[in-house]
Amino acid sequence: PVVTRFAPSPTGYLHIGGARTALFNWLYARGRGGRFLLRIEDTDRARSTPEATAAILKGLAWLGLDHDGEVVSQFEGAARHAEVVNELLAKGQAYKCFSTQEEIEAFREAARAEGRSTLFRSPWRDADPATHPDAPYVIRLRTAEDGETVINDEVQGRVAIRNDQLDDMILLRSDGTPVYMLAVVVDDHDMGVTHVIRGDDHLNNAARQMGIYTAMGWPLPVYAHIPLIHGPDGKKLSKRHGALGVDEYQKIGYPAAGMRNYLARLGWSHGDDEFFTDEQAMEWFDLGGIGKAPARLDFKKLDHVCGQHIAAADDAALLHEIEAFLDVTDQPALDATQRDGLTRGMYCLKERAKTIPELLEKAEFVLAKAPLQPDEKAQKALDDVSRGILATLTPQLQSASWSRDELEGLMAAFAEAQGTKFGKLAAPLRAALAGRAVTPSVFDMMLVLGKEETILRIEQAAT
Ligand code: GLU
Repeated sequence: PVVTRFAPSPTGYLHIGGARTALFNWLYARGRGGRFLLRIEDTDRARSTPEATAAILKGLAWLGLDHDGEVVSQFEGAARHAEVVNELLAKGQAYKCFSTQEEIEAFREAARAEGRSTLFRSPWRDADPATHPDAPYVIRLRTAEDGETVINDEVQGRVAIRNDQLDDMILLRSDGTPVYMLAVVVDDHDMGVTHVIRGDDHLNNAARQMGIYTAMGWPLPVYAHIPLIHGPDGKKLSKRHGALGVDEYQKIGYPAAGMRNYLARLGWSHGDDEFFTDEQAMEWFDLGGIGKAPARLDFKKLDHVCGQHIAAADDAALLHEIEAFLDVTDQPALDATQRDGLTRGMYCLKERAKTIPELLEKAEFVLAKAPLQPDEKAQKALDDVSRGILATLTPQLQSASWSRDELEGLMAAFAEAQGTKFGKLAAPLRAALAGRAVTPSVFDMMLVLGKEETILRIEQAAT
């Protein structure tokens, strides 16, 4: 069975690249009936904060990337990590190194002077334990001296690193704490991780990590190192490109389903498919579809995909998402009337809205309470003549049954009787019903508001 994991370091918000890594792992596992695990790599005590962990969990929750099992804290596994080092020591795959920092520096200087490789070779590698001093030591991995380490990466292809370019890495520091690189391997092994899908900034680490797997006799995971995300200009993503944290995308009002779709396409493709559901993404996602070149962030595409997801969204789910959006952007919550109105109007509101604020903008007529405060343009549409016409309309609306067909017929007849076209009546009606000039169609507004509210608003605008 497939087991993937997302292993963020809790040193800041969940950034867009991390979110995509999580998504790829999630899709890969979910599409194969596997498990998707979450491990917080909090061994760097100085840089790890509980706030960052909370922000990462929140970002994943918003994106809907649910994980299996408990959240694993890497730091809490320190005893187990040290245990593995001792096992390696007992097997002769690791050794105690008593070289001091000064000695290592002196070694490097001499090597530089003689034009030799400055890769540190510990004199303790083959020392007789009887000669060990009673002094602080680190524990190093005994790395092969010749040959090469080959990573058969699902994305990068065959990557070979000469072993004489790898030093005997430290596994356990002199204070007895395990190093990060070891912790990753032990945790991945213990968690049963079968596929490691992560940023290609970890590709070099893979060679070192493989050395630990081999020394322990553990089976290797499948590796897939994915290229980073670049900004629209093709340069490394940075603050200057804006919106680095996933929370910023949530606050812009992109729907989570649209984000998942867009992020899935960022560096992975399935033919020409741009718009797809989670189910399709799970079914289609594979490591072979991941590109080798860095993907570029493209906000136009993001807008487009998100618009399609809003239009296709389930109304109840969308309402839920709108409420979450209002909450994270510190806006007042919806009351029951507004919720009902939104629900009734969702069918027309979700057309052509790329973000939740765009949808809310169109929903203004249903969220506002009578008497409306018409804006400047709406005010202009409500001149004396128009108000007179609106005043004669309400009695006719009173007797109408409230269906689209009937309202359309009624309005056409009314316009004709007034010697005008319905188009001319639309502006004052928009102003009366929404207090604005740009709104959904007049008939949609009438149907969503209902008879009573429609007549009330027209009467209030007419007087
Ligand atoms: N903690 C690492 C990071 O946040 C990921 C390590 C890994 O996936 O192996 O970049």
